[in-house]
Formats: sequence, C-alpha cells, structure tokens
Amino acid sequence: MKTLEQIAAELQGYDPQALSADMVNEFLAGLVQPVHATEDVGLFDALGRVLAEDVISPVNVPPHDNSAMDGFAFRGDELAAGGPLRLRVAGTALAGAAWQGRVGAGECVKIMTGAVMPEGLDTVVPQEFTKQDDAGGDSFASFDAGIVKPGDNRRLRGEDVMQGQAALGKGQRIGPAALGLLASLGISRVRAVRRVRVAYFSTGDEILSVGDAPREGAVYDSNRYTVFGLLTRLGCEVVDLGVVHDDPVLLEATFLQAAERADAIITSGGVSVGEADFTKAMMKKLGDVAFWRIAMRPGRPMAVGRIVSHDPANYGAAVLFGLPGNPVAVMVTFLAFVRPALLRMMGANPEPKVLLRARSAGAIRKKPGRTEYQRGIVSKAADGRLEVAITGNQGSGVLSSMVQANGLIVLHHAQGNVAAGDEVDVMMFEGAV
Ligand code: AMP
Ligand code: MG
Repeated sequence: MKTLEQIAAELQGYDPQALSADMVNEFLAGLVQPVHATEDVGLFDALGRVLAEDVISPVNVPPHDNSAMDGFAFRGDELAAGGPLRLRVAGTALAGAAWQGRVGAGECVKIMTGAVMPEGLDTVVPQEFTKQDDAGGDSFASFDAGIVKPGDNRRLRGEDVMQGQAALGKGQRIGPAALGLLASLGISRVRAVRRVRVAYFSTGDEILSVGDAPREGAVYDSNRYTVFGLLTRLGCEVVDLGVVHDDPVLLEATFLQAAERADAIITSGGVSVGEADFTKAMMKKLGDVAFWRIAMRPGRPMAVGRIVSHDPANYGAAVLFGLPGNPVAVMVTFLAFVRPALLRMMGANPEPKVLLRARSAGAIRKKPGRTEYQRGIVSKAADGRLEVAITGNQGSGVLSSMVQANGLIVLHHAQGNVAAGDEVDVMMFEGAV
C-alpha cells in the first residue's frame, strides 16, 4: 500500500493546489485497491455484482444445431441443381423433441423454430417461400433454389457460447443480459467479489436532518440522499452515519466508526478553504490525507487519503473521499472521481469512457485551464442530430437543474469558449445516476 507521498511522487507535475481532473483519477487509481474477499451468490442476488472469476461454460449454447425459422429443413446440396425444387415432406420436427427419422434424397422435414436439425440436414427454407401440395398420400414443399443458400437459417451448436469457454470474464459487472446468459448455461450460483462497503456522513453546523424543524441559516441535508442513491445504483453496501456537527469528539468517533466498518468513507462539506477547521483537522489527525484544489467547476476543494481505525480488534484503513459541500459539486465529483475509484475497489473492469458528442444549442463561456461540468439536456433536434442545452441556473447548489438534466456537458481542461452549434462532449447520466 503506497503512502500519499509515494503516489504523488510518481505523478509528473503533481500540484495539490492546482490539480487537473485527469491527475485526480490517476492519483486515485494509485490509492485504491480491489477488495479481495469473494462469496457465492445465487443468480437473483448477482445483479449488479462483479464476477470474481471467469465463468467457464459447462455446456454448448445452443446445445444442438437448430432451426432459426419455421420452414422446411433439407440437405443444402439439393440446391446444386438450381431451378425449382419439390421435396417430399418426410415428417415434422417440433421444438423440444428431436425428430428421429431418416431423410432420403429429395426429401425434407417440416421444422419449427428452435427444433433440433434432423441428422444430415443443414439448411432451412422459410415456410413463406414455399408452396405445399399433396399428391398420392404424400405432402410436398416446393420453392425456388435461388431463395436460399446451403446452411441458411440454421443456428449452430455452441454459436452463442461454446462448452469449456469463458462465457463471462472476471471483473464483469452482472447486468440483466449477463444474468440471462448465466441462466442459459444452467448456472445457478456465481463467485462474486464481496460488495464494497461505503460509510458516508454530512458535516457542518448549518445542516439539518430531514425531520428537524427549519431554523434560520440552516439547510436540509441533501448530500446524504444523493450519495445514498449514487452508491446504491453502483451496487455498494451503504452505511449511513447521519449528519455530524462541528464537534471534535463526535467527529472523531464517527470517522473511527466509519473506518472500522467500511472500505471507503465519503464525507461532504468542511473541506473548502476558510472552513472552520474541525473536519479537516480531524481528517489530518486520523490518517494520511491530502487537501486538494482541483482545476474544475463545480467541485474545487476535495480531501483524499486513508483514515485509520484505532480499534486494535478491528484495525483497518478506509479510503477517504472528502467531497465539497455543495450538492451539485458532490454529484459531479462523485461521477468524475469517486465512481471510477469505487469500480476499481469493486474489482470491476474499468468502464469505457463513452462521451456523447452533441451540438451545443447555445454559446458557453469556458476558461481554459480547468475542467467544467455543465448540466445539460440532450435531445434530438429537428434535423435529427443530437443537441444539448444547458439547464438554466448552473449554481453549484442548484439541485433542481441537476434533476432536469440528463447528462453533464464536459468542457475539458484546455478547452475555451464554446460557440452555439459547436460540438461538445456529454457524460450521460443513464446507468450512472
Ligand atoms: P462547504 O463545502 O462546507 O463550504 O459547503 C458549501 C455549501 O454547501 C454551503 O452552502 C453548505 O450549506 C452546503 N452544504 C454543505 N453540506 C450540505 C449538505 N449535506 N446538504 C446540503 N447542502 C450542504
Ligand atoms: Mg461547511
């Protein structure tokens, strides 16, 4: 485990007073480590979990060559002669039971979608391309040879997943499709990484809890709720430690409790310059913590490091993410920095950084030398292209504009002013928020 000083020493141009957003992520990648503990979970509990090992398929999916269509199965080499074909129907193959007859030259089998391909047959002509007639007590299917090629409309055994192959890889986050795939292999339990446990609390004397009577100069705590939502969506186990006021004894006890119980701690508030020093002083006292000013907007101040539990029976360190207090800054710093770091702790493969390109509906002022995140609404413009408009008031305390937004416009570090009609990058909320 590297100290903050060691991590910093490896970063070219590290300046805690003017950190680029990219460097924050590099730093955090050095700070956090994947959780090692694993556990067996049943399929329904596996949703959102991260696979601790590859899943090797015990079977072929599909298990047999089968028909992709309702139609008539026949030997593809019958097509070589060209022209119209008229094949005698030797029987019917239904899904769920293999048809056990012999099929001779000039014959076919009526077959349903999903039914096992009868021995020796490799091609299916869809029913709608055929004409059927009866003669002399037999049924016949006729079609033009040009309509299909040998091998058409047949699904091959193992074409989805081959027996013995890794159907899903270690580090895969299990979504609905992966759940279905696991079930298609007949697998009922998987080995998953233990859930990452994250404790969080809000700080500040002016913060009220929901249920408290309103008081002049005080605001209700919203950060605990957004953080709860973000963590839950990510698949973390949450430990809510409430609101902690500027009381050193209480603050210390809460930090220590968090370090004992959780892998990571998220606080909000109390890390900006000019704050009464309670929170920062306590972080310093209880661990290895750096206080940053990040070249970004919103969300400039942030504290990171490790808080060390003093309980000898349960000695551990938790990664600290000390987020700023402003509600929008909390969400932005979570999405930009905490989320990728937690995914790493969860043992998940890094997410591809997919930013959408959309045309900016209006001009946006932007200073080079910092990363700015603006709340945006992406929609399809009249010309069919994607357009993004800013959601009014971009104040870092204005949560309603976060609610209206469906993504964040990311104006990169070196970028300058944006003119109306310029393309910009957007981080969509779908899946993350
Ligand atoms: P701070 O970072 O502590 O200076 O807080 C910046 C702003 O965010 C102040 O206006 C605080 O009142 C507000 N704030 C801090 N914590 C919370 C919270 N948990 N919920 C809502 N607003 C908060
Ligand atoms: Mg404060």
